[in-house]
Amino acid sequence: MKLYIFGSCSGTEPFADRHHTAWALECGGRLYWFDAGEGCAHTSHVMGVDLLSVSDIFISHSHMDHVGGLPHLLWTIRKLTKRLKQRPKYQDITVYSPNAESFDGVMSMLKNAEGQYKNSYETKFCQTKDGVLLQSESVTVTAKHNLHMKPTEEGYQSFSYVIEAEGKKIVYSGDVASMEELDELIADGCDVLLTETGHHDPMELCEHMKDKRVGHLYFLHHGRTILENYDAVAAQCRAIMSDVTLCNDKDIFFL
Ligand SMILES: [Zn+2]
Ligand SMILES: [Zn+2]
Repeated sequence: MKLYIFGSCSGTEPFADRHHTAWALECGGRLYWFDAGEGCAHTSHVMGVDLLSVSDIFISHSHMDHVGGLPHLLWTIRKLTKRLKQRPKYQDITVYSPNAESFDGVMSMLKNAEGQYKNSYETKFCQTKDGVLLQSESVTVTAKHNLHMKPTEEGYQSFSYVIEAEGKKIVYSGDVASMEELDELIADGCDVLLTETGHHDPMELCEHMKDKRVGHLYFLHHGRTILENYDAVAAQCRAIMSDVTLCNDKDIFFL
């Protein structure tokens, strides 16, 4: 399996060489996409990633640093189908998100763009709710709400995702209200934890996680502590916990 990092920054004003949060897991030939921060389509395409392998896009919540690149991601996939005269490899694309209104807004933009977003495939919406969202031959994705955003009448508005693939458990926190929410997600352990440092101190996170059964900790959605002092913070984190990586845009990891 391959883990691609397209954007490693939290919701800051623009920072050189970093974009808002987006990443994908390549497994069984498919790309499972998680969050769609600004520029993720551009970054992934110039990295050589095949965007026609995208089948499922999981949005953790509707804040702009997680959805700003979604219209352009869907637009770019359509552009590639036209230019290459191919369909998406897995026929349709499903966007999972807790916020239907935000998805509808994206679709409104697309319907007013070139070609009215008319496609030979469907772009479907699936409301993220607690429980198993996707079970394919190679991957199971389970959603678990967190309290980063307040629930509304529509339901919980922010989610973490647990991905089981090739015998590994990968936890993506999205943005979380507290480190205790991470404990519930990893439960009796995980192989990979991707978590945010936009709202939590990276060293405190390492202290919190060092005795938990986490195979490897990846930080993304960096806050200013990392953004302004990457090398020193990386060294401090590794002094606490050896299996920690502070992701950069365009990183590729083999799991
Ligand atoms: Zn965020
Ligand atoms: Zn957020």
